[in-house]
Amino acid sequence: MSTSTPAKKEIAAIKGTKDILPGEVGIWQKVEAEAKGLFEFYGYRELRAPVFEATDLFEKGTGETTDIVTKEMYTFTDKGGRSITLRPEYTPSVARAIIEHRLYLQPDPLRFYFIGPMFRYDKPQKGRYRQFHQVDVEVFGEKDPAIDAEIVEMADTLLKNLGVQNAETLVNSVGCRACRPAYSKDLRAHAEKVRDLLCPDCQRKIATNPLRIFDCKVESCREQAARFPKISSYLCRECRDHFTKFCSYLDLFGIPYKVEPNLVRGLDYYTKTTFEIVSSGLGAQNALLGGGRYDDMMKDFGGPDLSAIGFALGMERLISILKIKPEKSKFLYIATLGEAAKTKGIEFARFFRRQGVESLIEFVGRSLKNQMSRANKLGAAWVLIVGEEEIRKGLYQLKDMATGNQNEAKAEDLLKIICDSA
Ligand code: AMP
Repeated sequence: MSTSTPAKKEIAAIKGTKDILPGEVGIWQKVEAEAKGLFEFYGYRELRAPVFEATDLFEKGTGETTDIVTKEMYTFTDKGGRSITLRPEYTPSVARAIIEHRLYLQPDPLRFYFIGPMFRYDKPQKGRYRQFHQVDVEVFGEKDPAIDAEIVEMADTLLKNLGVQNAETLVNSVGCRACRPAYSKDLRAHAEKVRDLLCPDCQRKIATNPLRIFDCKVESCREQAARFPKISSYLCRECRDHFTKFCSYLDLFGIPYKVEPNLVRGLDYYTKTTFEIVSSGLGAQNALLGGGRYDDMMKDFGGPDLSAIGFALGMERLISILKIKPEKSKFLYIATLGEAAKTKGIEFARFFRRQGVESLIEFVGRSLKNQMSRANKLGAAWVLIVGEEEIRKGLYQLKDMATGNQNEAKAEDLLKIICDSA
């Protein structure tokens, strides 16, 4: 009879989520720093909203007929009986925060950015997660199509600065509340004629929101959608004008683009401009970022009549195609032997860190030889050797790991050697 206890089952991360481990976090930090620096340069400021919000914010904002709201939200009732949702996207939170804090009464431009996790209960696959991260950018109160083009140019600059190649900018206009109803009516009539060729989901969309059929990934639905009428022939004068000017500003900014007449994007709130930047390096989920204008959300939320435009960029997708490697930091490894040396080593770690030198001292009780080979393996730039003999003399050995040169000196002089060679 076996007396061994059964192996304990390991706890794993939830499906559709993933850990960003120290080995890959450097690239995340680099992208985040690049994005923040660039956005600040264009007059944007960070706005951090809570991870969860009242469910009706997204029902009202994102839209009741969207896939996000109908199928993908992480919604629960909290202990106070409120319906809460983990944010599936960021735009409604920004609109809410502007109204709640009356930010529109302040003189600062209403230009905001944020980087953080979003949550959607979608089918996990390559490029699609249940917790994923977006770089989000929003502008309020600027109606002019010049801002539509500038925001696209800013996104394009970010991608270029990060070395993204093979990206293509797609643009369209989805009209407004004045011209879209006539289009939806015709679209509904066309979809009705081919109802049997559409998936059950799209059959439902015929009544609720026929534009959403364009989001469907089912091949037969895509084939049918390609034959539906195009919104461009239905745009009112104002929307047509806006789109023409948007395109000419894109030319002015030097951004190549393609007009994609079926680009409606998966959200209900868009008005006029929609855009997407896609990359051939991504596979089936090829959208790196998407955005558009949403001129009705603020007034629909009971706020002032402020037009708005924004985009969201998927961090996981972006990082999956980046070739950049973050630079390895140059650091000092402090190797100590014995109790007195450990105390001195701690003092040195504090001293060097205060002087701006990244320093590592480990408390594992390794031999000096083992500490040297460990410093080598970790890629330390220098090793400081602190032993009893060194403490007695008040002189310490500093080894430059790149050249193998060794210097014996006081800590202050060694600091100078480090700073001169850094
Ligand atoms: P959306 O908010 O749906 O307009 O998406 C904007 C961008 O976020 C997309 O272009 C993707 O890069 C990214 N994204 C959206 N959904 C997911 C997801 N489930 N997993 C990973 N990235 C996503």
